[in-house]
Amino acid sequence: MAEKPLRLVRAIQKKSGNFDLLLCVGNFFGSTPDAEWEEYKTGIKKAPIQTYVLGANNQETVKYFQDVDGCELAENITYLGRKGIFTGSSGLQIVYLSGTESLNEPVPGYSFSPKDVSSVRTMLCSTSQFKGVDILLTSPWPKYVGNFGNSSGEVDTKKCGSALVSSLATDLKPRYHFAALEKTYYERLPYRNHVVLQENAQHATRFIALANVGNPEKKKYLYAFSIVPMKLMDAVELVKQPPDVTENPYRKSGKEASMGKQIPAPEEEAACQFFFDLNEKQGRKRSSTGRDSKSSPHPKQHRKPPQPPGPCWFCLASPEVEKHLVVNIGTHCYLALAKGGLSDDHVLVLPIGHYQSVVELSAEVVEEVEKYKATLRRFFRSRGKRCVLFERNYKSHHLQLQVIPVPLSCCSTDDIKDAFITQAEQQQIELLEIPEHADVKQIAQPGAAYFYVELDTGEKLFHRIKKNFPLQFGREVLASEAILNIPDKSDWRHCQVSKEEEEMLARRFRKDFEPFDFTLDD
Ligand SMILES: [Zn+2]
Repeated sequence: MAEKPLRLVRAIQKKSGNFDLLLCVGNFFGSTPDAEWEEYKTGIKKAPIQTYVLGANNQETVKYFQDVDGCELAENITYLGRKGIFTGSSGLQIVYLSGTESLNEPVPGYSFSPKDVSSVRTMLCSTSQFKGVDILLTSPWPKYVGNFGNSSGEVDTKKCGSALVSSLATDLKPRYHFAALEKTYYERLPYRNHVVLQENAQHATRFIALANVGNPEKKKYLYAFSIVPMKLMDAVELVKQPPDVTENPYRKSGKEASMGKQIPAPEEEAACQFFFDLNEKQGRKRSSTGRDSKSSPHPKQHRKPPQPPGPCWFCLASPEVEKHLVVNIGTHCYLALAKGGLSDDHVLVLPIGHYQSVVELSAEVVEEVEKYKATLRRFFRSRGKRCVLFERNYKSHHLQLQVIPVPLSCCSTDDIKDAFITQAEQQQIELLEIPEHADVKQIAQPGAAYFYVELDTGEKLFHRIKKNFPLQFGREVLASEAILNIPDKSDWRHCQVSKEEEEMLARRFRKDFEPFDFTLDD
C-alpha cells in the first residue's frame, strides 16, 4: 500500500500545519501481499489524516474493496466507492469514479462501464443550475487530454486513457481533474469549458496527472493545494480566465470521445496521491481524536432534490412510487406507510429527492426529518405508544427511516435497548452506543454502510457494517418476543396485504395524523 505518502504527509504536517484530506487516485494497493497494510488494518499504525481512496484497477487488488458503495478500510482510510459524489465539510464537491474503463459486459469488479458514467452524469447534470464540480477523481487519464495543450511527454493521449472519462469531464466541468495510471506527472495548461463568443464564460479546468509513489525519477506524485469550494466563490472570480487558458481538448473529438473505444487497462502499480486543505480560511485544525472537525456543522450545497440514477421505489417523483401508501408530504420529506409493516401504523420518513442515507442530506432536509421524528413521537405518544426508529444504509439506494410504534404496555425503552444489544451480540454484530446529541453524520464515514436504531429517549445504537449484515435485523429484533412478540412478521413479505387494505390503512393514518400535521401550518 501507499505507506510512503502517508509518511510524507506526516512530515509536512509537522512542518506546515494540518491538511484536511488526502485523496488518492491510482492504485492504493500493490499486487503483492503487504505486511504494512496489516498494521493499518489492525490499528497498529494509523493514517495521519482522513484519507479517501479510489477502488481497484486490477483483479489482484479487487479483494481489498469489498463494498461497491464504499467502506472504511482502516481507521482514517476510506474507500469512496465505485462512483459517486462526496461533499466535504466545507461544501467542496468531489466526484469520483473508481477503476478502469470497460465496454464489455459483465463489467469486471475493477472497472466502470458506460452505464456507470451516465449514472454519475444524470445524478449531477440533470438540473439546469448545474455549473460544474470542484474536483473529479479518476484513475485513468481522459483520452485526448493533450489536445491543444502543452506536451504530455511520452504519453500519447490520442492512444492512452479512457474516452468515457473524457466525456464525463466534458459534462462535469471539474475545476480540478486528477488522474494517474500513466506513471508520469503531467499538469496540463488550464482549458476552457465554454465556446468563446458563443457561450457565457465559465470556469476553467486544470488537469493534473500524478506519477507513481516513490518513482526513481522523482516525478511528482503528491500535489498539495488549498481550494475554496465553488459554491462559496464570487461568480466573477470563479469564471476569471487564466492567461494561459487553452481550447477544450475534448470538444473537437467530442463525438469520437463519447463513442468510447476499447482501451487496454494499465495493470501495473502506480499509486498516486495528492492532498489539500479544505478550510484554509478558517484555519481549522484537526485535533488528534478528530473530534473538532467532526463536531463542526456540515453545510451542503443548496440544490434541487437529487435525481436517482435509475428507477427508484422511493423518489416521490418517480412513477415506481406506490402513491397510495403516501400519508403526508412536507417540503423535503414525506411519510409513507411501510409496505408489509410490522403494524398498521409502521411508517417511513423518506426524503422527496434521491438521497442514499442521512449522511448525505443537506441541512434543510435534516431539519425536516427531525421535525417529522418529533411530530411522530408526539403523535404516537398520544396513542399510548413509543417510537423506535432505525435506518439501514446497506444494500439500499434511497434513505428509509423506519418508524415503528411499540405500545407503552409492551415493554420499557430499556427493554427495547437490551433486546437490540442482546440479539446483536448473538449475531456478532457490534452495536455502539452513540451520544444522545451526536448525529449519525458525525459518526458514519461518507459512503460507508451502517445500521442504527434510535430509541424514544434519543439514545442511538450504531453499527458500522463491514459485510453480510442481516437485512431484516431491525425488524427481527422488534418482532421478537422481547418487544412486539410477532416473530412471524419479521419478514415483510409475510405481512403483505391487498392494495384495498393498504388504501384503507393509509386513509386511517392520514385522518388520525391530521391534528399533528405541521405541513398544514403556515
Ligand atoms: Zn430515490
